[in-house]
Amino acid sequence: MIHSLIVGFGIAGLTYAEQLLRNKKDFLIYDDNRLGASHISSGIYNPTILKRYSIIWKGHEFLKYSKTFYRRLERRINSRVNYSNQINRIFSKESEFNQWISASDKYPLNNYLSPKFFSKSNKFISTKKGFGKVKNLGRIDTKKIIEGFKKKIGKKFLRITKFNFDKLKIEKDKITYNDTLFKNIIFCEGFKVIENPYFNYLPIKGSKGEIIIIKSPLLNENQIFKGSIFIVPIGDNNYWVGSNYINSFYNNKPSKKSKEWLVSNLNKIISCPYEIIDHKSNIRSSVYDRKQIIGQHNEFKNVYIFNGLGSRGILTAPLLSHWLYQSIENNFTIPNEVNVARFD
Ligand SMILES: Cc1cc2nc3c(=O)[nH]c(=O)nc-3n(C[C@H](O)[C@H](O)[C@H](O)COP(=O)(O)OP(=O)(O)OC[C@H]3O[C@@H](n4cnc5c(N)ncnc54)[C@H](O)[C@@H]3O)c2cc1C
Repeated sequence: MIHSLIVGFGIAGLTYAEQLLRNKKDFLIYDDNRLGASHISSGIYNPTILKRYSIIWKGHEFLKYSKTFYRRLERRINSRVNYSNQINRIFSKESEFNQWISASDKYPLNNYLSPKFFSKSNKFISTKKGFGKVKNLGRIDTKKIIEGFKKKIGKKFLRITKFNFDKLKIEKDKITYNDTLFKNIIFCEGFKVIENPYFNYLPIKGSKGEIIIIKSPLLNENQIFKGSIFIVPIGDNNYWVGSNYINSFYNNKPSKKSKEWLVSNLNKIISCPYEIIDHKSNIRSSVYDRKQIIGQHNEFKNVYIFNGLGSRGILTAPLLSHWLYQSIENNFTIPNEVNVARFD
């Protein structure tokens, strides 16, 4: 009998698989290769909420665990995918600047917000009121980490095909899928969980996000900038630019309207020429309370979920995967804030 069947191979499926590897448990992942939200994520892991000058629930804990988790993962896949970073927050109004002054002086934000201000660093990036630096953050290259992990585990652990619920049989002490026996099943499907008959009761709301990738040799920048949108250097003079949050959508395809919105916001920040080399979109899986979802199905005790990563998924997934594993194997009590049981 195989220890775990994992459905979905975004950052949720990957971090859970990594916990299994660390604990020497075997698993099989099914992924339909439709490239979920993780593939277009900027990959920033940051516990601060710059809009409200606060820190997310257990922000320090998530950050601390993520830093070591991703560093160790780099060694497993033998590839550089984890970068320490800082965000240059562009101030567009006097009030933002004033809020920063007061927040950067107090615990816990003083761990992240530098009290120093900068007026200009790059002649092609405009800022009327200067900018402040958010420090102690990280960024992972999500595409590279997923591809690297896939390569490392190989075909023995991964099936590239759609998971078919008609072939799933759940019994008290075992799970059968395609004539193979498993101890547990962990659903890590991102927004597609709305089609999952075991968890479609969850209050998941989708939020579509679109991004463009630009090439701009003149910009010559290696730091992240955040104004109305993020500009994230991703190497080879390319930059990830995004994103928006669309709560009402018909499909997950890129739209002309969003592209225009991204370009207009980008043009307010940078003044050098650039070429748009890609435009992508996908749907974040979020919950109204902005907390993630992990834990056991209320009826089937060997069925689990790992979802709701639309908000801060890159930051929270490593520690959540640890909590989920510990709850299954060692009776760890998952905090109510992220426990699927809060929706029972
Ligand atoms: C534009 C954008 C920017 C973002 N930026 C950040 C950021 O900077 N920092 C941050 O923390 N978070 C960010 N996020 C959020 C976060 O990155 C994602 O929400 C998170 O990575 C989603 O991970 P996941 O594994 O839950 O889902 P996904 O990445 O969507 O993966 C789910 C996988 O399951 C597969 N699947 C589903 N159903 C089936 C089935 N029946 N059979 C087989 N396979 C199936 C899907 O095809 C997919 O491959 C961003 C999101 C977006 C859209």
